Amino acid sequence: MGRPFVEWFEGRYNSCAGYSCKMCRCNLASSSELVSRQFHSKHGRAYLFNQAVNLQTGPREERMMTTGLHVVCDVYCSKCMWPVGWKYELAYEKSQKYKEGKVILERACVVDVSEDGEDGEGGETESDDY
Ligand SMILES: [Zn+2]
Repeated sequence: MGRPFVEWFEGRYNSCAGYSCKMCRCNLASSSELVSRQFHSKHGRAYLFNQAVNLQTGPREERMMTTGLHVVCDVYCSKCMWPVGWKYELAYEKSQKYKEGKVILERACVVDVSEDGEDGEGGETESDDY
């Protein structure tokens, strides 16, 4: 039930990198909210965020993940309804509780604004990253 995340995010978006909907470029998450890039989904790499914005959530459902049973909602871009990932509502495994309330955005469904050439400061080359 919509908390007004939109206002919170838009004001500071210009000054920080983040992730946008691949279809309509709507802002979805700030890179300062990024928790982990180590997630995987059916479609490939996925990112975990503390918080994301401009999302519509689908119905809650139980889903068996590689890390155990979770209650999740699929999340969609609130502008164009493109499916961009899912949100963890509940984790049954104690070790997975930290994910509750956090949001996964699938790499294949979003655009990394920081890699889009907007600001050139730091980190654009990763050639010696093992
Ligand atoms: Zn969109």
